[in-house]
Amino acid sequence: MLAGGQSLIPLLKLRFASPGHLVDLNFIPAMSFIREDAGALRFGAMTRHAEIENSLLAGKIPMLHDCAAGIADVQIRNRGTIGGSLAEADPSGDWGNALLTLDTILHCLGPNGTRRIELKDFIKDAYTTALAHDELVSEVEVKIPPKGSGGAYLAFKRSAPVYPSASVAVQLTMAGDVCQDAAIALGCVGLTAIRVNEAEAALRGKVLNEKTIATAGDAARAAGDPQPDMRGSAEYKRQLVLALVQHAIRIAARRAGGESVEGMHLYA
Ligand SMILES: Cc1cc2nc3c(=O)[nH]c(=O)nc-3n(C[C@H](O)[C@H](O)[C@H](O)COP(=O)(O)OP(=O)(O)OC[C@H]3O[C@@H](n4cnc5c(N)ncnc54)[C@H](O)[C@@H]3O)c2cc1C
Repeated sequence: MLAGGQSLIPLLKLRFASPGHLVDLNFIPAMSFIREDAGALRFGAMTRHAEIENSLLAGKIPMLHDCAAGIADVQIRNRGTIGGSLAEADPSGDWGNALLTLDTILHCLGPNGTRRIELKDFIKDAYTTALAHDELVSEVEVKIPPKGSGGAYLAFKRSAPVYPSASVAVQLTMAGDVCQDAAIALGCVGLTAIRVNEAEAALRGKVLNEKTIATAGDAARAAGDPQPDMRGSAEYKRQLVLALVQHAIRIAARRAGGESVEGMHLYA
């Protein structure tokens, strides 16, 4: 299946994939939309990153804007789709990390109808999903977080058209300066995005201050299993995770308090 082609076309060009047939999803108009329905935002699988970046409706969950606006460069954001990105399950992909901290359900359509699969059960391993060979992702449903919530997605990269060296997603629910609930996920430091229960527990039920933020950062730093590559050494990526998590927690808390704070990908 061909969506935006931003992962598939390079694979075809490199001869890593040689399918007998290509089914072009771009001819199915009903697969691209952004809607609010029953407390959730619903994205057609063919919705482009750029459409999400520029959507006021999607901006109701600020982390979605952070994520979409930082994916590669504008050409790739104009073609690449949210469904294609999740179906590709690239360990460095931004959507698979950001959406892991939100209640996200994928609608998967096959000959026997639609299955709803939670994102945490959808991505099984690097480049491996729960999709059957005759299924496609038709829709991505993201529950709107409760009042008093705020989130942030931060990724650190060397330049726009490359994948991040490390990325973090943080979603908090606050009551004053007490953190009622926390979801923290890391990207690019494992075969899939990683939810960090220890970092979440370091915040949940606690007053958010420099000490609790530092404890959460340390827990996140310890949870990743980064591999050294052209984007940096394993130790460098661990340090990135520590800094990004602390920064994202602060932005998420301010957003939870109603402030409008810019959050985005950061460049070397
Ligand atoms: C130079 C470059 C830099 C990039 N940088 C980043 C980055 O920083 N962050 C990031 O997240 N991504 C990045 N990308 C990837 C980009 O976001 C892609 O858009 C995305 O990974 C795949 O989406 P697509 O719509 O292009 O899918 P395609 O390339 O068309 O398809 C990818 C795979 O998913 C399958 N597929 C597609 N849609 C569906 C569907 N609805 N149901 C079932 N299977 C489906 C296809 O069959 C194929 O196997 C980059 C890509 C390039 C070329």
